[in-house]
Amino acid sequence: MGGRSTASSGQVRADGRVAPPTEIAPNVFEILLRRVRVHLIAEQALTLIDAGLPGSSGAIDRAIRAIGREPSEIRRVICTHGHFDHAGGAAELAARDGVDVLMHSADLAILPTTLVDVARRPGRRLFVALTPRLDGATPLDDGFELPILGGLRVVHVPGHTPGSICLYAPESGLLFVGDALQARLGRVGFASRLYSDDWNMARASVQRMARLDVHTIVFSHYPPRGDDANGTLRRLAAEAEVAEAGMREGTR
Ligand SMILES: [Zn+2]
Ligand SMILES: [Zn+2]
Repeated sequence: MGGRSTASSGQVRADGRVAPPTEIAPNVFEILLRRVRVHLIAEQALTLIDAGLPGSSGAIDRAIRAIGREPSEIRRVICTHGHFDHAGGAAELAARDGVDVLMHSADLAILPTTLVDVARRPGRRLFVALTPRLDGATPLDDGFELPILGGLRVVHVPGHTPGSICLYAPESGLLFVGDALQARLGRVGFASRLYSDDWNMARASVQRMARLDVHTIVFSHYPPRGDDANGTLRRLAAEAEVAEAGMREGTR
């Protein structure tokens, strides 16, 4: 699936209403919210990958109804990382009966960051401080497999945040990358240098993605890309390797 062909799907319409979700793969829907795309896996139960900014639950509910399902069917919300544009809406969903929120343990550990902490030590943790607290969330770790899409595997890709994860479905070849990769101006590249905690680490983490067999890269801020996903990941991994070798040279 090419980026261009899906770029027009799920756009905010002129009347301000969000268009119905787009099915990007069987049972996988993209919901375009303000600033970010979240993904809905509609099997017997509903699973969300990310939950958007704080206050997104109403728009998510409307999207769920638009595909003929009920918001009460949401069972879990998996957060790709703790930034407020991804995990900000999780707390309001977690407050509902029977909804489990899951996030990598390293990002759960930094969620208690407050605006006072950020004022003392300004930096990228602001994007975590703006995420409402998630008491009772389930910690995820590398290799954990969730019983959806025939087995959805957690791949820890630290760097953008300490607990950034990709979610990989081997059966369909989908790789949900959150902000661990971006596709600015149509070119797939490393995580944003500006918004990442440890950009060198984020770049090195691409090696982990390049070992997978990927059919489609599913982004949070860009349309999905199914054109030579494996080749793209391997090209990035090679670039990362060259850059790391250069860094080692430089420190000798
Ligand atoms: Zn982020
Ligand atoms: Zn983001």
